[in-house]
Amino acid sequence: MLPARLGMRLRNLGVIAVLAGLLVSAAACSEPPTEYKATVYIFGTLVDFTISGAREEDAREAVGAVEREFQRMHTDWHAWKPGELTRLNQAIHDGRAMRVSPFLLPLLVQARSLSAASDNLFNPAIGALIAAWGFHNDELPSGVLPDREEISRLAALHPTMADVEISGDMVSSRNRAVQFDFGAFAKGAALDRAMEILRAHGIENAIINAGGDLNTLGKAGRGSGGAAKADGRPWHIGIRAPAGRGVIAAVDLAENENLYTSGNYERYRESEGIRYSHIIDPRDGMPVRHIVSASVIDMNGAVADAAATALSVAGPRDWHRIALKMGIKFALLVDENGTVYLNPEMKARVEFAKGQPPAIVVSPPL
Ligand code: AMP
Ligand code: MG
Repeated sequence: MLPARLGMRLRNLGVIAVLAGLLVSAAACSEPPTEYKATVYIFGTLVDFTISGAREEDAREAVGAVEREFQRMHTDWHAWKPGELTRLNQAIHDGRAMRVSPFLLPLLVQARSLSAASDNLFNPAIGALIAAWGFHNDELPSGVLPDREEISRLAALHPTMADVEISGDMVSSRNRAVQFDFGAFAKGAALDRAMEILRAHGIENAIINAGGDLNTLGKAGRGSGGAAKADGRPWHIGIRAPAGRGVIAAVDLAENENLYTSGNYERYRESEGIRYSHIIDPRDGMPVRHIVSASVIDMNGAVADAAATALSVAGPRDWHRIALKMGIKFALLVDENGTVYLNPEMKARVEFAKGQPPAIVVSPPL
């Protein structure tokens, strides 16, 4: 929670503060906030929890339970560190079927349907391409770029989630080039599960913010006397601007809405002055260039996360079709010139930062 005076000042200025976590709890408050805050690490990101209106010990216990779940995800959903997913990738490479745990199986099933809905632009079967570009590493890759022929060869093997057969808990692939990498939607899936855990612990109002990608539960508010009590305000959130330039716009999130942004400036490699993004177009195996960032609001974090990546790949000309196919209702894209592309429903709810954007292209409704 921001100090009251500062909160008021930011509001008056119409400025959206986005210092660490892009979240602004907007209203000034007269009573002491009963907010519990904690930070947990997963998938290379610090995740900030803000829980309002709950008893501190309940909140602490709930976050502890989420942290244990996150640790398991970190191992068993990881695309390149040894765990269940890398064992499954090895089995597929070897042409074997493997029994998969109930921890991983739902992720595969969800990945398969989201991938189909996105026309395979969200394609978590292209792990080999992502590795070839050097992104299966905690450090950003540098040095010689991968060989273009090798990239074309890997793309031509055409691994997709449609190759994957799931029979009970046995998983196999008709195409041995399939290698899972859930990096494009694991954060969303993880935060969805985290919210389920908080709910099961009786938490009614919370926000979980993973570097600007976030899930909300209930409404923003301040508790009093230990009772869960939200005061009915929406969560007031900044939408990340590309390249660490603060926020491009602010939006009020309704109850349980989630916001995810995918950007080709987030992780990349550079060679001869050209940036090569970690978001790969599965059709040719090349990093995405035209779109700088794509933000999506959805009630499901995994859907929003997968869609943000898919819309980044789709680009200014195709994003609307893919958003329609994926059932997305609110999307906003920014290209390399700062031009914003968005649907009218999104336009109606965003408030742009001063001087932003230089140009807007409004699509037909979603
Ligand atoms: P995000 O930041 O959510 O867009 O996720 C980017 C991550 O998803 C990358 O670091 C890769 O691990 C993975 N990825 C890259 N391109 C794709 C794609 N077209 N489909 C699915 N996953 C991808
Ligand atoms: Mg994503």
